[in-house]
Amino acid sequence: MTLLQTDLELTRNSYYAATAPRRQRFPVLQGHVDADVAIVGGGLAGLSAAIELADRGYSVALLEARQVGWGASGRNGGQAIAGLACDQSVIESQLGREASRRVWDMTLESIRLIGERRERFGIECDWRDGYLGLAVNERKARELREWHELMQRDYGYRTTWIAPQDMPGWIASPRFHSGIHDPLGGHLHPLKYSMGMAGAAASLGVKVFEESGVTEIVPGRIAKVRTAQGSVNASHVLLAGNVYLQGVAPVLESRVMPVGTYIVTSEAIEPALAASLIPSGAAACDTNFVLDYFRPTLDHRMLYGGRVSYSTTTPSNLAESMQRRMARTFPQLRDTKVEFAWGGFVDISMNRAPDFGRLADRLHDKGGPDWSNVYYLQGFSGHGLALTGLAGKLVAEAIAGDAERFDTFARIRHRSFPGGKLLRTPALVAGMAYYRLKDLL
Ligand SMILES: Cc1cc2nc3c(=O)[nH]c(=O)nc-3n(C[C@H](O)[C@H](O)[C@H](O)COP(=O)(O)OP(=O)(O)OC[C@H]3O[C@@H](n4cnc5c(N)ncnc54)[C@H](O)[C@@H]3O)c2cc1C
Repeated sequence: MTLLQTDLELTRNSYYAATAPRRQRFPVLQGHVDADVAIVGGGLAGLSAAIELADRGYSVALLEARQVGWGASGRNGGQAIAGLACDQSVIESQLGREASRRVWDMTLESIRLIGERRERFGIECDWRDGYLGLAVNERKARELREWHELMQRDYGYRTTWIAPQDMPGWIASPRFHSGIHDPLGGHLHPLKYSMGMAGAAASLGVKVFEESGVTEIVPGRIAKVRTAQGSVNASHVLLAGNVYLQGVAPVLESRVMPVGTYIVTSEAIEPALAASLIPSGAAACDTNFVLDYFRPTLDHRMLYGGRVSYSTTTPSNLAESMQRRMARTFPQLRDTKVEFAWGGFVDISMNRAPDFGRLADRLHDKGGPDWSNVYYLQGFSGHGLALTGLAGKLVAEAIAGDAERFDTFARIRHRSFPGGKLLRTPALVAGMAYYRLKDLL
């Protein structure tokens, strides 16, 4: 099965799709359109850029191959968490302490941006405050405590340390040793949020097109972006297609690896029991490398994510195995049924840092056509719900002439996955097996 076939299967039984009917549809691009900026991809990265560009007076055409929010943005765990998927030390070692602090602060801005947009555009998306990071054993607890102290000392970022004896007040699970609570983080219904963002973009004059997959970009001072039935001429292009670009910009493909990850939602639980599992109602995540993440929903279900797959095959016993994982964390849910099971692909970069840049910088043939007006955003590495919002803002700033913040991210160096298309999966599997073994030990 190809990635796209698997992905279509993975969307079929989504709790989000079942609880957020699509009320607003957008037309298919037919014929020719001129715009200042053409955006490829109607996930949160593309939608955020569209809003920010429209705010700055640019005309924008956004092209989505399926429906807005169809990709990772409409199916993720809904957890908005400070920081990047990689440790800050990765950024420090490449850019230095000062730039690393700026990057950290931007990740905090990305969470606040969600609140600003919810308020400004009246997006109802079930937001709840709070994030819990949970250590599964003493060694992980030591690492988490070190992180908590280091972030306070070097980055001025305060989280609350939860000592082992205080854990029952935060989570009714025998699995965790200790943890941190971060009041800035939180969680939401990502499909409601994505659709709200699309409505917001349209209300600002962005021309949003669905079922309009981009097949080719012809570079130039005015680039031409082609779909099956139409085209857009634009002086700037943004590629925000996650792992689905599939041939539109081959030079980007080896820099990220599509990794499948899965989520289930339980049947509705008796409200008092549901409230007792995570009394603060926060989102929660363990500290393993291949982690479990979970949160209560507004309608008293447990939404539980975890497992990864490096091939395009979905695990065959997904609902059952995830039910077991959920019951391992919450034995109280041993007999609770799983009602929804779905998943999607995350765009993992080699160092787990986000990969933002201009296409021209990725091409070796410097004498060829001009790609300097084509920007890209990828490599969110499973940590993009909030960061995509900021990423879109940074592209808009860069297009408007102030590239300082965009370039801070663009300076992060990335390596391609070795082995090309066929061999990069085994290389990643070997690497991940190592980390999984470390978790188990
Ligand atoms: C199961 C799962 C759980 C996750 N959980 C979390 C979480 O809890 N917290 C967190 O921070 N992050 C999480 N993530 C990651 C987060 O969802 C992503 O980082 C983020 O949504 C990426 O947004 P995006 O706009 O880059 O990509 P997407 O949302 O995937 O959007 C890309 C869009 O581009 C379109 N597209 C691609 N190619 C073309 C083309 N040629 N023409 C037109 N359109 C095109 C696609 O159809 C797609 O809709 C999770 C991801 C998954 C899959």
